[in-house]
Amino acid sequence: MQGFHQVPRSDGGSCDFCTAQPIRKFYSCRNFKWHAQNVFPGGSAGAWAACAECAELVDAERWAVLTERSLREFLINHSITQGDVTRLREQFRQIHELFRQYRIPETQACGLSQTD
Ligand SMILES: [Zn+2]
Repeated sequence: MQGFHQVPRSDGGSCDFCTAQPIRKFYSCRNFKWHAQNVFPGGSAGAWAACAECAELVDAERWAVLTERSLREFLINHSITQGDVTRLREQFRQIHELFRQYRIPETQACGLSQTD
């Protein structure tokens, strides 16, 4: 199996959930590993960028909807087989679950400085 390594990468310009533009909001998040790779290679924490729609879903904790949105946007930009869609949905679901666990609540994020 070829596995999609959909590690979110902050390029500073597009949503880390669905790749849409522009960015509305950043979420502080502690580092975690996905497929043996650090999501934030540079440090112990980083920022996840979210577009307006994804930020709304995160704030409302509508994770299942967020996963479907990410998947839908991904499929628009990539052509993959039906079997891969199922696998990809599961990967997005897992990443969003990890993001939910490692996210730093905004009330605690005040003292963090961004090091990019
Ligand atoms: Zn988005």
